[in-house]
Amino acid sequence: MSYDVIVVGAGSAGCVLAARLSEDASCEVLLLEAGPDYPTRERLPVDIADGTRLPSDRSTSHDWGLVSTPGIGGVPAVPLPRGRVVGGSSAVNGTFALRGFPEDYDAWEAAGNQGWGFSDVLDVFRRLETDLDFADRPWHGTVGPVPVRRHPPTEQSVLAHTFLEAAQKAGHPPLADHNEPGVVGAGPLPVNTLGRLRMSAAITHLEPARGRPNLTVRGHAPVDRVEVVAGRTRGVRLVTGELLGAELVVLSAGAYASPGVLLRSGIGPTEDLAALGVDTVTDLPGVGRNLVDHGLVSVDVAVPAEPVERPNYQTMVTWRSDGGDGPPDLHLFACGPFETRRTRGDRQEARLIVGLVDPASRGQVQLASTDPTTPLHIDPGYLEDRRDLDRLATGVGEIRRILDTEVLRSLAIGEELSPGAHLTEDADLRAALPSLVRTYHHPVGTCRMGTDPDDGAVVDAHGCLHGIGGLVVADTSIMPTIPRANTNLPTLMLAERIAGWLTAHT
Ligand SMILES: Cc1cc2nc3c(=O)[nH]c(=O)nc-3n(C[C@H](O)[C@H](O)[C@H](O)COP(=O)(O)OP(=O)(O)OC[C@H]3O[C@@H](n4cnc5c(N)ncnc54)[C@H](O)[C@@H]3O)c2cc1C
Repeated sequence: MSYDVIVVGAGSAGCVLAARLSEDASCEVLLLEAGPDYPTRERLPVDIADGTRLPSDRSTSHDWGLVSTPGIGGVPAVPLPRGRVVGGSSAVNGTFALRGFPEDYDAWEAAGNQGWGFSDVLDVFRRLETDLDFADRPWHGTVGPVPVRRHPPTEQSVLAHTFLEAAQKAGHPPLADHNEPGVVGAGPLPVNTLGRLRMSAAITHLEPARGRPNLTVRGHAPVDRVEVVAGRTRGVRLVTGELLGAELVVLSAGAYASPGVLLRSGIGPTEDLAALGVDTVTDLPGVGRNLVDHGLVSVDVAVPAEPVERPNYQTMVTWRSDGGDGPPDLHLFACGPFETRRTRGDRQEARLIVGLVDPASRGQVQLASTDPTTPLHIDPGYLEDRRDLDRLATGVGEIRRILDTEVLRSLAIGEELSPGAHLTEDADLRAALPSLVRTYHHPVGTCRMGTDPDDGAVVDAHGCLHGIGGLVVADTSIMPTIPRANTNLPTLMLAERIAGWLTAHT
């Protein structure tokens, strides 16, 4: 079988690419996904449909089961959830709908990636969304596929609402719209749910395109590698050995799997490939390097049980921990309350999260084997750079300061279950934090865009792989640096932008 375009991976980016490229009725598009496809909303499993919480059981919930390698300084091996279903991680995520800061995108452009500055991408963010609260603001869109809204105080849990009020009392500037360019402070969290429905890319982008005769969506079709002949892609080979031909292959398998596919195809650092007996097709030292993820730690406390189940994520504080002006480096928010083994009766557990959104540490993804069913070696590099530990510790201190405001004390919050109130000395807290680091779920950067392959660039500013024709990478892996935001909206924006360039050229 041969197609004009094969898109590998039906996640946030892949759904956008398949939908946009198939708008041209003469372009035969095949979208391949390792996980299952649920073609209608009615057939979605409950935890994929329910966007008010993360799927709780990874074994049944369309996950790749990835785990990191242990890090330095006591950072343990941690689970690294990734969606394995049409919709990808957008089908299992927390539905935070944040864009990031102008500085994030201006830095992409300053690194040589023309067309990615904030003034270029703002309009794409606008066209992506229908903001249901702020249609009148010029930086918002009113007709895009992704609905974005904020829970009003009447819908918020007592915990989320009181945390927000306490943060504002503690000096964090109140704000109404976290997506207003450049604002930092405390306000309701923008989310992409409608009612309780998680508006994944499978719904917002793929669903309207499904009826097109020139678009085929194939689930349960894991890709082993890209086939390259004489410097040009010819198609892809599935794990089953089946070969599928295409003029253009768009790799959208995500920040872990996209470098995995490239490495199995002989595209990557020659030394690493040789160590596994893989012949080099193109020596690209940057494949799998430059992994950046937002790490987090949580301050867990016992709180009064809430009788009504509310969405888990409702309010957000962005904060610059050095007290300076400019974009934030931390997210602070309340999550829960939940019933857990640590709380009983009229008490539940709340997690007060410190998310590090401007990490200095870098990790990497490597092949453990040429067998595509063997999990990758993933080292997120959490806390490799000491400054990251400092900022997380400062964030924990800030959470404790907010907990100590009168408004939160009036909630009768109980003991600190973790890291533990006994850790009052800065040195003790810092010693404990590495073992508590987890992912905030936003890996990027492993096939980064840039101009110089010898300097680690894997694709150019349009996503085209350096050194091979007919191969584009379009997903979080090509972000050269990490936005100071949860990465779903930034990925949708990135995919829309690359789809625009591809359709202009074909
Ligand atoms: C638990 C969790 C919570 C999150 N919460 C939020 C949030 O609240 N807000 C936010 O903005 N972001 C959130 N994120 C991050 C966000 O969802 C991701 O950054 C974004 O979805 C990544 O898009 P992507 O297209 O790069 O990859 P993905 O959406 O992960 O898509 C990759 C797709 O490729 C498929 N695939 C992989 N390998 C192969 C292969 N070999 N062959 C075929 N198919 C393959 C995968 O199964 C998957 O469907 C969360 C992520 C997770 C996992």
